[in-house]
Amino acid sequence: MRSKNIKTMDEPHRAPSAPPSDKVDAELNRQRLMSLINSMADGVIALDIKLRIVITNGAALNMLNINNDPVGQSVDQLLRPLTADGQPVDLQRLIRESTRPWTSRDWLIAYSPTDKINLYLSVSPVHSGYGRAGGYVLLLRDITREKSLEQEKDDFISVVSHELRTPITIAEGSLGNAELLFKRAAVDLPDIAAMLTQAHNQITFLADLVNDLSTLSRAERGRLQMSAQPLNGRQLVEELASAYLAQASNKHLLLQTETSASAEAITSSPLYVREILQNFLTNAIKYTEKGKVVIGLRPYPAGLAFYVSDTGIGIDRHDSQRIFERFYRADNSHTRHTSGTGLGLYVASKLASLIKARIEVKSRPGGGSTFTLLVADLASGGH
Ligand code: ADP
Repeated sequence: MRSKNIKTMDEPHRAPSAPPSDKVDAELNRQRLMSLINSMADGVIALDIKLRIVITNGAALNMLNINNDPVGQSVDQLLRPLTADGQPVDLQRLIRESTRPWTSRDWLIAYSPTDKINLYLSVSPVHSGYGRAGGYVLLLRDITREKSLEQEKDDFISVVSHELRTPITIAEGSLGNAELLFKRAAVDLPDIAAMLTQAHNQITFLADLVNDLSTLSRAERGRLQMSAQPLNGRQLVEELASAYLAQASNKHLLLQTETSASAEAITSSPLYVREILQNFLTNAIKYTEKGKVVIGLRPYPAGLAFYVSDTGIGIDRHDSQRIFERFYRADNSHTRHTSGTGLGLYVASKLASLIKARIEVKSRPGGGSTFTLLVADLASGGH
């Protein structure tokens, strides 16, 4: 890590012979503020409205490897972030367009072709009163170590899930067959039948977990390349309904479709939309004991709205705020008796953000749930 003496940008003014006391106070306050900013471990850069540097601290100068006083320079003379694939970022434009604070964790700063750091950057407009922007404040942090740990974790998950997939699939198939043959043979050994069912359920759970983990690690690495293609909403709804019919009737549930006549085809990722809806359907069937599950489609100004509704156990307000978190499962008697990884909706929300889609949930404990996926038509520039 580069080390440099911390530079105070503004040296204190020489005190005039008899300064008025409010001037002394103001000067003292200014010096206090400067030492506070200079003591921060994060880099700070304050810009005026024309994106010229007004204040920097030692941490920012260290991180950007700057020796001279940059006050008055334009921000792009000092800070030139690159995207992960080495393309320059148009930071000036992004800052100028910011009306609200935003952050990025995906850019790099390159000192040389081989010496790079991962940058955390936060940009906040500073309001000078009457809602007008008076400048911007940038916060910088070197997150190279965190990023490499994340990368190692993702690599680990990806290798482990890949290695586990084959043996689990084989074991799942064999157990499923053994269970079926045993039941068909109608031998009166209920303990063995129960053991086989239990083993089969557990291995199915493992197979789901491995699938979710591997989709997740690919989504988090940004490896899932979204391919925008024509998506026929009605056809997808019909296909999904027939694929899940057996699962629903096993639980004596009705499975209905609702497709609006005016619902047109759009451009999006049929693969991801299907994966997300499959997740909604699996949950709807899993968390419903009586009644019906509906998969439907209606027009939505920016694209298509798909929904899956059920007459199941519902979700209370506290849980509905958390069900998209990784590994979160509502704690109730029903979830305790059904297998689940708590990853399905987390993965669904990751996939949705990759295709500029939004998920909405309406639910009431005991009154069923409706999960809606608002899919933007990517051909018309999204929503
Ligand atoms: P899981 O594998 O547990 O189903 P998910 O991420 O798919 O994981 O869902 C998270 C939690 O959200 C579930 O454990 C359940 O508590 C709740 N949930 C999801 N869908 C429904 C639904 N249709 N009805 C009731 N609860 C649901």
